[in-house]
Order: sequence, then C-alpha cells, then structure tokens
Amino acid sequence: MNQLNLFLYTILFSIFILTNSFAENTEPEKDVFTVILDPGHGGKDPGTTGTTGVYEKNINLSIALKVKEYLAEKYDDIRIILTREKDEFIELKERGKIANENNGDLFVSIHCNYKKKEEHDKNGFEIYISDLNRTNEAEEITKLENKFFLLPKSDTSSVFWKEYTTIAVPLLQNVYFKMSEYFATILELELTKGTVLESRGIQQEGYFVLIGASMPVLLVECGFLSNVGDERYLKSQKGQNDVAKAIYKAIVFYKMDYDYMKFVNKISK
Ligand SMILES: [Zn+2]
Repeated sequence: MNQLNLFLYTILFSIFILTNSFAENTEPEKDVFTVILDPGHGGKDPGTTGTTGVYEKNINLSIALKVKEYLAEKYDDIRIILTREKDEFIELKERGKIANENNGDLFVSIHCNYKKKEEHDKNGFEIYISDLNRTNEAEEITKLENKFFLLPKSDTSSVFWKEYTTIAVPLLQNVYFKMSEYFATILELELTKGTVLESRGIQQEGYFVLIGASMPVLLVECGFLSNVGDERYLKSQKGQNDVAKAIYKAIVFYKMDYDYMKFVNKISK
C-alpha cells in the first residue's frame, strides 16, 4: 500500500469511526465490534455441488462456524452473529436485515464457486465487494434502516447536524465501499499466505447480499468446487481450518485498525 493510499484510508477510517460515534449518541448499546458471518445458501438451497457431490452450503457453514469459534475463543470484545447456524434456508434480503438489526460493523458472506459450463477449469478464491454503480440502491437501504440517519433529539438546531444529515448517507456509502476495499486487501493477503488457494483477485459485483447490509461488506468465494484440487482441499478439515483462520485473522487485523482510529478520535476530541 503506498503512502497516499494509507493516508486516504486513515482519513476514511476516521470518518467511519466518527460516524459510528455519532451513532452511539442515538444507539448507546452499540459499542461492541460486531461481525456478521453469512454462510451462503442453506436448507432447500444447496448452492453449487462439487465434483464428488459435496454441497456448497455445508462447506460455507462449516467455515463460518470455525471463524466464530476462533474469534470467540480469543476475543470477548467481538460480538459474532451468524445469519444461520444450521442447515436452514434464509432469504437473501433477510441476511442483510439480520446484519442491520444487529448493528454490524463488518459483514462477511462465505461461498464456494463453480465454473460455468462454457468455461475452462478454474481454481482459486475470489473476493467481491459491491459495485459502485449500485450505490443508489444501497443508499436507499441505508436511509431506511440505518438509525443514525436520524437527528439526535438534543441537537436538532445545530447547523452542523443539518449539514451532517444531508451528506451522511452518500458519504457513508462511500466510506463503506472504501472500508470494504480495505478489508478485502487484508483478506486477500491472509488467504494467499495461509491457504494453498490461488488468488483470483478482488472484484466489484452488484450481488444483492453486498448491497443489503449498511456496513462494510464483502463476499468471499473460497474456491471452485468444480475443480478437483480446490474441492478436495475445501472438503478437508485442513482446508476449512486454513480458510477459517485466514478470515479470522483478517477480521482481527481490521479490528485493530478500527480500535486504533477509535482511540485517535477519542484523544483528539
Ligand atoms: Zn454460493
């Protein structure tokens, strides 16, 4: 990461923490860092099926449960919410709603991939963040569901608050996007270091699950179940442990930056 990017991220992180501290004015119970883990598919929706018949939904759930276990074992200052803890069907829009209702600080959707019929064999993990062309939809969801768009009762006359509320949602969406991008770079590095999977890079896509949650959000396709090597690895305990540990580490590193900026904002007040 070059100096300019680092500077930019620092500024954005400050805005992010600042907006969250405004949120605390109206939402006092929210100061525990909350991660929403979203194991893709479930129940009647198996997701993709691997070459040996393994269901994507089961691998996604197993990895998410391991990430939860690693986090819960070492960090009592991180709240972990799963959109599903068992093999059940949850609508896509319901997943974003669960995240918003729980005031998530980070949303990680976990999936596995399958190549299309016309494509050659593909392998490796892919990371998706939201497509900026769909920010209007995301803004609408944020306006509807994000409580800190509301003016705090005690401060309605303040000019600052008037300005703040007119810029809040678009600015916030931009910050969420940048923070998703930042988290994606950390996750890409951890997955590359900690697993045998190849990186296919970070991409932007307008997946519904990526725009439904009003917070930094990312979807990881852990590998291709249509590829014999990836499937063997992702089916194994070793593979699932490696991937879960990489996601876990990325969350911890992201939170370290989050806590640091929270501290900087506190002492600079
Ligand atoms: Zn999937």
